[in-house]
Amino acid sequence: MSAAEPAEAAPERAGEVASLLPLVRRVVGARVADPAVAEDLVQETLVRVLAALDRVAPETLEAYAVTTARNLVASLWRSTDRDRRNQHRVVDLRPVEQPGDELLVREKQDALTEAVTRLPDRERRLLLAHEVLGQDTGSLAAEVGSSAGAVAAQLNRTRARLRVEYLLSLERSEPPTDRCRPVLLALSSADRRRQRELDADRHLLECELCARLSGPLLGRGQRRDEETRIPIRADADIVAARQAAREMAQRVGFARTELTLVATAVSEIARNIVRFAGSGEVVVSVLRTPAAGVRIVARDTGPGIPDVEQALADGYSTYHGLGLGLPGARRLMDELTVESEMGRGTTVTMTKWRRGG
Ligand SMILES: [Zn+2]
Repeated sequence: MSAAEPAEAAPERAGEVASLLPLVRRVVGARVADPAVAEDLVQETLVRVLAALDRVAPETLEAYAVTTARNLVASLWRSTDRDRRNQHRVVDLRPVEQPGDELLVREKQDALTEAVTRLPDRERRLLLAHEVLGQDTGSLAAEVGSSAGAVAAQLNRTRARLRVEYLLSLERSEPPTDRCRPVLLALSSADRRRQRELDADRHLLECELCARLSGPLLGRGQRRDEETRIPIRADADIVAARQAAREMAQRVGFARTELTLVATAVSEIARNIVRFAGSGEVVVSVLRTPAAGVRIVARDTGPGIPDVEQALADGYSTYHGLGLGLPGARRLMDELTVESEMGRGTTVTMTKWRRGG
């Protein structure tokens, strides 16, 4: 039901492709001023060169990369031109009325009021006594015959519940499943054990509402600086995943070339999720031991890969030579393992270590 492929040493031609990067950067940089756009084109060139490795002889690889980069720049100009011509149509489609700030503020206050009323009576009284009347935990404990520590813990749980109810009130709809509230509460209170019991990771992959709300909830509680979780549903999420990976790799001192390799692998794996699984997530974490590095875990709830070994074999690209597929991503990273279960989904775990120290 599940298969894992141990990582192999990166094939020697990966280094060859990485060594083309300065050249590709010069070609693109001479034609495109915006650094973010240029970086996208450099990555896209890299993807195409990697996808063509089996077809292109080593001595013509450089020429192939330059031609590819130039063609991509040219097609960017063509599409920019087209966008400019079509811009008025996009503008026409925009909603006429934008809600003003005042309205937004009132909406938030209403949601908070509603969230407070949804708390259990005891919890609401405790929270209001503490937050509004300024009563300290010691005197609250004396009133209810408990300890200051227990009261503080209860206040934390109540705040976690309030955050969940507040976000749900802003949504103006009840969550779609019975599991949503418990999962959101476990996230909000950073209760790892409860999250495991509820299989929260999986719920976030399957539930659009909870995936959306998990961002703000984790931002307050449990999200550590060394880990970022990006739900993947649409093309814009691919960009977010790529940026997160770059940022994390930069934080542990990756060189520029390696940042691009990591970002390229992440954007390809995220693209696979959008194309073949529909939804999933990418979790990027910083590694400090045994060496500096980044780890990327990409999960989806797609159909699964029937033959993982074949999918990892060179020359096998999931979309007909236009993308990296798993073998391409493996070339860019130091380690890559795949676990897949038919009908349940696929998890790809990739690691890259910082070079030179
Ligand atoms: Zn849910």
